[in-house]
Amino acid sequence: MADLGSPQNTIRVLQKYQFAFQKRYGQNFLIDTHVLNKIIDSACISKDDFVLEIGPGIGTLTQYLCEHAGAVTAVEIDRNLIPILEDTLQDYHNIEIVNQDIMKTDLSGLIGEHSGGRPVKIVANLPYYITTPIIMKLFETHVPAESITIMVQKEVAERMQAGPGTKDYGALSLAVQYYARPEIAAHVPPNCFMPRPKVGSAVVRLDCYSEPAIQVRDEELLFRLIRASFNQRRKTLVNGLKSDPDMLLSKEQIQMCIEKLGVPVNVRGEKLILEQFAKLADLVYEELHDSTENIS
Ligand code: SAM
Repeated sequence: MADLGSPQNTIRVLQKYQFAFQKRYGQNFLIDTHVLNKIIDSACISKDDFVLEIGPGIGTLTQYLCEHAGAVTAVEIDRNLIPILEDTLQDYHNIEIVNQDIMKTDLSGLIGEHSGGRPVKIVANLPYYITTPIIMKLFETHVPAESITIMVQKEVAERMQAGPGTKDYGALSLAVQYYARPEIAAHVPPNCFMPRPKVGSAVVRLDCYSEPAIQVRDEELLFRLIRASFNQRRKTLVNGLKSDPDMLLSKEQIQMCIEKLGVPVNVRGEKLILEQFAKLADLVYEELHDSTENIS
Protein backbone atom coordinates (compact mmCIF):
# COMPACT_ATOMS: atom_id res chain seq x y z
CA MET A 1 0.00 0.00 0.00
CA ALA A 2 1.22 3.47 -0.94
CA ASP A 3 2.66 5.85 1.69
CA LEU A 4 -0.24 7.91 3.06
CA GLY A 5 2.21 10.65 4.07
CA SER A 6 1.76 11.91 0.52
CA PRO A 7 -1.35 14.11 0.04
CA GLN A 8 -2.15 12.46 -3.33
CA ASN A 9 -2.30 8.99 -1.76
CA THR A 10 -4.47 10.26 1.11
CA ILE A 11 -6.89 11.89 -1.36
CA ARG A 12 -7.02 8.63 -3.36
CA VAL A 13 -8.01 6.63 -0.25
CA LEU A 14 -10.57 9.22 0.86
CA GLN A 15 -12.15 9.18 -2.61
CA LYS A 16 -12.08 5.38 -2.92
CA TYR A 17 -14.13 5.08 0.29
CA GLN A 18 -16.05 8.34 -0.18
CA PHE A 19 -15.00 9.11 3.38
CA ALA A 20 -16.88 11.96 5.09
CA PHE A 21 -14.82 13.70 7.81
CA GLN A 22 -16.50 13.71 11.22
CA LYS A 23 -15.83 17.08 12.81
CA ARG A 24 -17.04 15.82 16.21
CA TYR A 25 -14.16 13.32 16.25
CA GLY A 26 -11.45 15.93 15.58
CA GLN A 27 -10.35 14.32 12.31
CA ASN A 28 -7.32 16.13 10.86
CA PHE A 29 -5.14 13.63 9.02
CA LEU A 30 -1.40 14.14 8.63
CA ILE A 31 -0.12 14.63 5.07
CA ASP A 32 3.55 15.48 5.59
CA THR A 33 6.31 12.85 5.55
CA HIS A 34 8.78 15.14 7.43
CA VAL A 35 6.37 15.53 10.34
CA LEU A 36 5.65 11.78 10.37
CA ASN A 37 9.38 10.97 10.48
CA LYS A 38 9.87 13.60 13.19
CA ILE A 39 7.21 11.90 15.36
CA ILE A 40 8.90 8.50 14.91
CA ASP A 41 12.34 9.99 15.76
CA SER A 42 11.04 11.87 18.83
CA ALA A 43 9.32 8.74 20.14
CA CYS A 44 12.57 6.73 19.64
CA ILE A 45 10.65 3.71 18.35
CA SER A 46 12.55 0.45 17.77
CA LYS A 47 11.62 -3.13 16.85
CA ASP A 48 11.80 -3.98 20.59
CA ASP A 49 8.85 -1.67 21.37
CA PHE A 50 5.11 -2.05 21.66
CA VAL A 51 3.21 1.05 20.55
CA LEU A 52 -0.32 2.04 21.51
CA GLU A 53 -1.69 4.52 18.99
CA ILE A 54 -4.77 6.60 19.81
CA GLY A 55 -6.92 7.53 16.79
CA PRO A 56 -5.20 6.02 13.71
CA GLY A 57 -7.57 7.77 11.23
CA ILE A 58 -6.91 6.20 7.80
CA GLY A 59 -3.64 4.72 9.10
CA THR A 60 -1.07 7.32 8.05
CA LEU A 61 1.01 7.49 11.24
CA THR A 62 0.16 3.80 11.83
CA GLN A 63 2.06 2.82 8.65
CA TYR A 64 5.17 4.56 9.99
CA LEU A 65 4.72 2.98 13.43
CA CYS A 66 4.34 -0.52 11.94
CA GLU A 67 7.56 -0.01 9.95
CA HIS A 68 9.56 0.86 13.10
CA ALA A 69 7.93 -0.92 16.08
CA GLY A 70 7.72 -4.59 17.08
CA ALA A 71 3.95 -4.45 17.55
CA VAL A 72 1.27 -1.77 17.30
CA THR A 73 -2.27 -1.61 18.68
CA ALA A 74 -4.40 1.26 17.39
CA VAL A 75 -7.68 2.33 19.04
CA GLU A 76 -10.11 4.16 16.71
CA ILE A 77 -13.61 5.36 17.68
CA ASP A 78 -15.03 5.88 14.15
CA ARG A 79 -16.29 2.56 12.79
CA ASN A 80 -16.35 3.95 9.22
CA LEU A 81 -12.55 4.00 9.38
CA ILE A 82 -12.16 0.31 10.24
CA PRO A 83 -12.55 -1.11 6.67
CA ILE A 84 -10.21 1.64 5.41
CA LEU A 85 -7.57 0.71 8.03
CA GLU A 86 -7.89 -2.97 7.08
CA ASP A 87 -7.05 -1.94 3.53
CA THR A 88 -4.28 0.65 4.15
CA LEU A 89 -2.50 -1.56 6.73
CA GLN A 90 -2.94 -4.87 4.86
CA ASP A 91 0.85 -5.23 4.30
CA TYR A 92 1.61 -5.25 8.05
CA HIS A 93 1.34 -8.26 10.33
CA ASN A 94 2.29 -6.44 13.54
CA ILE A 95 -0.92 -4.37 13.85
CA GLU A 96 -4.12 -4.85 15.88
CA ILE A 97 -7.00 -2.45 15.28
CA VAL A 98 -9.51 -1.92 18.06
CA ASN A 99 -12.79 -0.09 17.35
CA GLN A 100 -13.35 1.65 20.69
CA ASP A 101 -13.59 5.00 22.44
CA ILE A 102 -10.20 5.47 24.14
CA MET A 103 -11.98 7.11 27.10
CA LYS A 104 -13.86 3.84 27.71
CA THR A 105 -10.91 1.51 27.02
CA ASP A 106 -9.31 -0.55 29.78
CA LEU A 107 -5.78 0.61 28.90
CA SER A 108 -3.82 -1.62 31.28
CA GLY A 109 -5.88 -4.65 30.15
CA LEU A 110 -5.33 -3.82 26.45
CA ILE A 111 -1.59 -3.25 26.93
CA GLY A 112 -1.24 -6.42 29.03
CA GLU A 113 -2.99 -8.41 26.31
CA HIS A 114 -1.04 -7.07 23.31
CA SER A 115 2.39 -5.82 24.44
CA GLY A 116 3.99 -9.24 24.94
CA GLY A 117 6.12 -7.75 27.74
CA ARG A 118 7.80 -5.21 25.40
CA PRO A 119 8.53 -1.62 26.53
CA VAL A 120 5.35 0.42 25.96
CA LYS A 121 5.29 3.72 24.07
CA ILE A 122 2.16 5.73 23.35
CA VAL A 123 2.07 7.75 20.14
CA ALA A 124 -0.80 9.81 18.74
CA ASN A 125 -1.92 12.71 16.66
CA LEU A 126 -4.62 13.45 19.23
CA PRO A 127 -8.16 14.61 18.47
CA TYR A 128 -8.05 18.18 19.83
CA TYR A 129 -11.58 18.16 21.32
CA ILE A 130 -10.52 15.75 24.08
CA THR A 131 -6.74 16.24 24.37
CA THR A 132 -6.65 17.06 28.09
CA PRO A 133 -9.11 14.32 29.19
CA ILE A 134 -7.05 11.73 27.25
CA ILE A 135 -3.75 12.91 28.80
CA MET A 136 -5.30 12.92 32.28
CA LYS A 137 -6.74 9.44 31.75
CA LEU A 138 -3.32 8.08 30.70
CA PHE A 139 -1.72 9.49 33.86
CA GLU A 140 -4.50 8.92 36.39
CA THR A 141 -4.83 5.25 35.39
CA HIS A 142 -1.03 4.98 35.73
CA VAL A 143 -0.74 3.61 32.21
CA PRO A 144 2.46 1.52 32.14
CA ALA A 145 4.21 3.57 29.41
CA GLU A 146 7.83 4.71 29.12
CA SER A 147 6.93 7.69 27.00
CA ILE A 148 3.97 9.44 25.39
CA THR A 149 4.63 11.31 22.13
CA ILE A 150 1.66 13.35 20.98
CA MET A 151 0.60 15.97 18.49
CA VAL A 152 -1.48 18.58 20.29
CA GLN A 153 -2.64 22.15 19.81
CA LYS A 154 0.37 24.50 20.19
CA GLU A 155 -1.16 26.30 23.22
CA VAL A 156 -1.71 22.97 25.01
CA ALA A 157 1.93 22.01 24.40
CA GLU A 158 3.03 25.32 25.90
CA ARG A 159 0.79 24.80 28.95
CA MET A 160 2.38 21.40 29.59
CA GLN A 161 5.87 22.92 29.74
CA ALA A 162 4.98 26.14 31.62
CA GLY A 163 6.47 27.09 34.99
CA PRO A 164 5.02 29.11 37.95
CA GLY A 165 4.15 32.78 37.48
CA THR A 166 3.61 32.50 33.70
CA LYS A 167 0.22 32.92 32.01
CA ASP A 168 0.28 29.34 30.66
CA TYR A 169 0.95 27.77 34.08
CA GLY A 170 -2.02 25.81 35.42
CA ALA A 171 -3.51 22.49 36.47
CA LEU A 172 -2.34 20.78 33.24
CA SER A 173 1.29 21.94 33.72
CA LEU A 174 1.33 20.57 37.27
CA ALA A 175 -0.37 17.28 36.39
CA VAL A 176 1.95 16.60 33.46
CA GLN A 177 5.10 17.60 35.40
CA TYR A 178 4.08 15.36 38.32
CA TYR A 179 4.07 12.29 36.06
CA ALA A 180 6.52 13.13 33.28
CA ARG A 181 9.19 15.40 31.82
CA PRO A 182 7.65 17.30 28.87
CA GLU A 183 9.60 18.52 25.87
CA ILE A 184 8.32 20.17 22.70
CA ALA A 185 9.95 18.32 19.80
CA ALA A 186 8.51 20.25 16.84
CA HIS A 187 6.08 22.97 15.84
CA VAL A 188 3.71 21.94 13.04
CA PRO A 189 1.74 24.38 10.83
CA PRO A 190 -1.90 23.77 9.72
CA ASN A 191 -0.91 22.92 6.12
CA CYS A 192 0.53 19.57 7.28
CA PHE A 193 -3.02 18.26 7.88
CA MET A 194 -6.11 17.44 5.84
CA PRO A 195 -8.43 19.20 6.50
CA ARG A 196 -6.36 22.08 7.91
CA PRO A 197 -7.06 22.87 11.57
CA LYS A 198 -7.62 26.52 12.54
CA VAL A 199 -4.74 26.42 15.05
CA GLY A 200 -1.01 25.65 15.08
CA SER A 201 0.14 22.31 16.50
CA ALA A 202 3.18 20.88 18.24
CA VAL A 203 4.69 17.45 18.88
CA VAL A 204 5.37 16.90 22.58
CA ARG A 205 7.33 14.05 24.08
CA LEU A 206 6.49 13.15 27.69
CA ASP A 207 9.11 11.01 29.39
CA CYS A 208 7.15 9.19 32.08
CA TYR A 209 8.76 8.88 35.52
CA SER A 210 8.77 5.38 37.02
CA GLU A 211 7.87 7.11 40.32
CA PRO A 212 6.06 10.51 40.39
CA ALA A 213 8.35 13.57 40.62
CA ILE A 214 7.41 14.16 44.28
CA GLN A 215 5.89 12.10 47.10
CA VAL A 216 2.48 12.97 48.51
CA ARG A 217 0.19 11.19 51.00
CA ASP A 218 -2.99 11.48 48.93
CA GLU A 219 -2.61 11.97 45.16
CA GLU A 220 -6.33 12.59 44.62
CA LEU A 221 -6.35 15.34 47.24
CA LEU A 222 -3.28 16.95 45.61
CA PHE A 223 -5.06 17.20 42.25
CA ARG A 224 -8.30 18.43 43.83
CA LEU A 225 -6.35 21.26 45.50
CA ILE A 226 -4.54 22.09 42.25
CA ARG A 227 -7.81 22.19 40.28
CA ALA A 228 -9.51 24.36 42.94
CA SER A 229 -6.53 26.77 43.00
CA PHE A 230 -6.68 27.39 39.27
CA ASN A 231 -10.47 27.32 38.80
CA GLN A 232 -10.60 31.05 39.44
CA ARG A 233 -7.10 32.30 38.71
CA ARG A 234 -7.66 35.80 40.09
CA LYS A 235 -8.66 34.53 43.53
CA THR A 236 -6.17 34.08 46.34
CA LEU A 237 -5.25 30.49 47.16
CA VAL A 238 -7.39 30.58 50.36
CA ASN A 239 -10.49 31.77 48.49
CA GLY A 240 -9.88 29.36 45.59
CA LEU A 241 -9.66 26.41 47.98
CA LYS A 242 -12.63 27.62 50.04
CA SER A 243 -14.84 27.70 46.91
CA ASP A 244 -14.21 23.98 46.30
CA PRO A 245 -17.56 22.36 47.27
CA ASP A 246 -15.72 19.27 48.57
CA MET A 247 -13.39 21.28 50.84
CA LEU A 248 -14.11 20.15 54.40
CA LEU A 249 -11.81 22.64 56.16
CA SER A 250 -12.85 26.10 57.40
CA LYS A 251 -11.25 29.26 55.99
CA GLU A 252 -9.20 29.57 59.22
CA GLN A 253 -7.91 26.01 58.91
CA ILE A 254 -6.90 26.61 55.26
CA GLN A 255 -5.14 29.84 56.27
CA MET A 256 -3.26 27.95 58.98
CA CYS A 257 -2.06 25.33 56.44
CA ILE A 258 -0.87 28.11 54.08
CA GLU A 259 1.00 29.80 56.96
CA LYS A 260 2.68 26.49 57.83
CA LEU A 261 3.74 26.24 54.18
CA GLY A 262 5.76 29.43 54.74
CA VAL A 263 4.18 31.56 52.01
CA PRO A 264 2.13 34.80 52.40
CA VAL A 265 -1.44 34.00 53.34
CA ASN A 266 -2.75 36.09 50.40
CA VAL A 267 -0.65 34.15 47.83
CA ARG A 268 -2.22 33.13 44.50
CA GLY A 269 -2.10 29.47 43.44
CA GLU A 270 -0.24 30.36 40.24
CA LYS A 271 2.85 31.28 42.33
CA LEU A 272 3.27 27.83 43.92
CA ILE A 273 5.56 25.16 42.51
CA LEU A 274 4.66 21.45 42.48
CA GLU A 275 6.62 20.69 45.69
CA GLN A 276 4.67 23.44 47.52
CA PHE A 277 1.34 22.06 46.33
CA ALA A 278 2.44 18.61 47.56
CA LYS A 279 3.42 20.00 50.96
CA LEU A 280 0.12 21.90 51.15
CA ALA A 281 -1.79 18.70 50.27
CA ASP A 282 -0.01 16.88 53.12
CA LEU A 283 -0.83 19.73 55.56
CA VAL A 284 -4.50 19.69 54.49
CA TYR A 285 -4.50 15.87 54.79
CA GLU A 286 -3.18 16.07 58.37
CA GLU A 287 -5.66 18.80 59.27
CA LEU A 288 -8.55 16.76 57.81
CA HIS A 289 -7.48 13.67 59.74
CA ASP A 290 -7.01 15.64 62.98
CA SER A 291 -10.51 17.13 62.52
CA THR A 292 -12.13 13.71 61.98
CA GLU A 293 -10.24 12.22 64.95
CA ASN A 294 -11.51 15.07 67.17
CA ILE A 295 -15.10 14.46 66.04
CA SER A 296 -15.02 10.70 66.70
N1 SAM B 1 -3.57 9.38 13.31
C1 SAM B 1 -4.24 9.96 12.16
C2 SAM B 1 -3.29 10.91 11.46
O1 SAM B 1 -2.33 11.37 12.12
O2 SAM B 1 -3.51 11.22 10.29
C3 SAM B 1 -5.54 10.66 12.55
C4 SAM B 1 -5.44 11.72 13.64
S1 SAM B 1 -6.92 12.65 13.88
C5 SAM B 1 -6.28 14.17 14.52
C6 SAM B 1 -7.63 11.96 15.37
C7 SAM B 1 -8.21 10.56 15.25
O3 SAM B 1 -8.72 10.15 16.53
C8 SAM B 1 -9.37 10.43 14.28
O4 SAM B 1 -9.18 9.28 13.48
C9 SAM B 1 -10.60 10.25 15.18
O5 SAM B 1 -11.65 9.52 14.56
C10 SAM B 1 -9.99 9.53 16.36
N2 SAM B 1 -10.72 9.70 17.64
C11 SAM B 1 -11.43 10.77 18.04
N3 SAM B 1 -11.93 10.57 19.27
C12 SAM B 1 -11.52 9.33 19.67
C13 SAM B 1 -11.72 8.55 20.85
N4 SAM B 1 -12.46 9.01 21.85
N5 SAM B 1 -11.18 7.31 20.90
C14 SAM B 1 -10.43 6.84 19.87
N6 SAM B 1 -10.21 7.53 18.73
C15 SAM B 1 -10.73 8.76 18.62
